[in-house]
Amino acid sequence: MERNIAEINEVVQNATIHARGNSLKHRKKRDPTRPAARWITEARVGRERGTALAVVLSTIGCAHARSDSGGCTMCSYLLDGVEESPTPEQILSQFRLAMAELESKSAPLSIKIYTSGSFLDPDEIPPIARSEILRIIAEDKRIREVVLESRPEYINDQVLSGVRSILGDRIIEIGMGLESSSDTVRSVCINKNFDLNAFKIALKTAKNHNIGIRAYVLLKPPLLSERDALLDATKTIQEAKALGVTTVSLNPVNVQKDTLVEKLWSKGRYRPPWLWSVLEVLRNAGSGTDRWMKIVCDPVAGGKQRGAHNCGKCDTGIVEAIRQFSISQDSTVLQNHTCECISQWKHVLKHEDFALVVHR
Ligand code: SF4
Ligand SMILES: [Zn+2]
Repeated sequence: MERNIAEINEVVQNATIHARGNSLKHRKKRDPTRPAARWITEARVGRERGTALAVVLSTIGCAHARSDSGGCTMCSYLLDGVEESPTPEQILSQFRLAMAELESKSAPLSIKIYTSGSFLDPDEIPPIARSEILRIIAEDKRIREVVLESRPEYINDQVLSGVRSILGDRIIEIGMGLESSSDTVRSVCINKNFDLNAFKIALKTAKNHNIGIRAYVLLKPPLLSERDALLDATKTIQEAKALGVTTVSLNPVNVQKDTLVEKLWSKGRYRPPWLWSVLEVLRNAGSGTDRWMKIVCDPVAGGKQRGAHNCGKCDTGIVEAIRQFSISQDSTVLQNHTCECISQWKHVLKHEDFALVVHR
């Protein structure tokens, strides 16, 4: 069985590399002193409502995506990066520009630092730039929460004790792409290139430094039916909860450029998840009673063809309810949505697996 999975993974890996093609050669030239993106949102900060600044720093991008293993099947973040690694000064200039967005904002604030890969990878963010960024944050008393992102291989005691000592007693979370608790789904459908054990070790290390883990859970990776995807995400959230993650971020797949997902989608062989499935997974997660674990979801391209969508008539209200739920954690906003397209979604859940076997 393990050999079969490894063989299928190799096919998926090659297809992922093929889908990316030479897109990197055509990616947009970026100014290395400016972040790839930055935005402010209303957000849940600890147990309060507050404001979050999200910044995407331009770096050389995710090592997994740059390597021969080809990156994940749904991810084109590498296209947000720059060709040559920015200097520490250039990275700091990107960060300072983003911080200016917070000038008029009042506490409590949260900062989410994304790169096109891992903030804790020293090849992406040199340690000297990492420490300086954290020091700038530490000087700002309004900032109560800091969210970083990293693959598990860069999480170790030495790095985390440095992060903790600079940020003091702030809430710190590291976002990690668990995606699925199934090693088979994570490897065959996503090509993630790490196993559940690596996730568990990183989580334990983080816990030792009083640092929480924000587990990214993917809804509907390619090669899964709507029903299987719904069940997989629900099970993954339960298992992430049992492992002790502090937040689950449910990420419905959106179709990004030059990915295997886009290739399948353009041939009519992939549809992003229904918003009904997103609602169902969030309701199943039972966050209303589990106050210790936050569940958030911000469906990228929600309601559009490339994002989680329904029929077009009911999408806006549902996406808004999902966003409100993420801020308030009040699961009642997820109830009582209805539309005639719900019967079509139910039909898909019931018959799609069978149709895939018969018609393809
Ligand atoms: S999803 Fe994360 S780990 Fe996968 S290729 Fe993108 S940045 Fe890298
Ligand atoms: Zn509808």
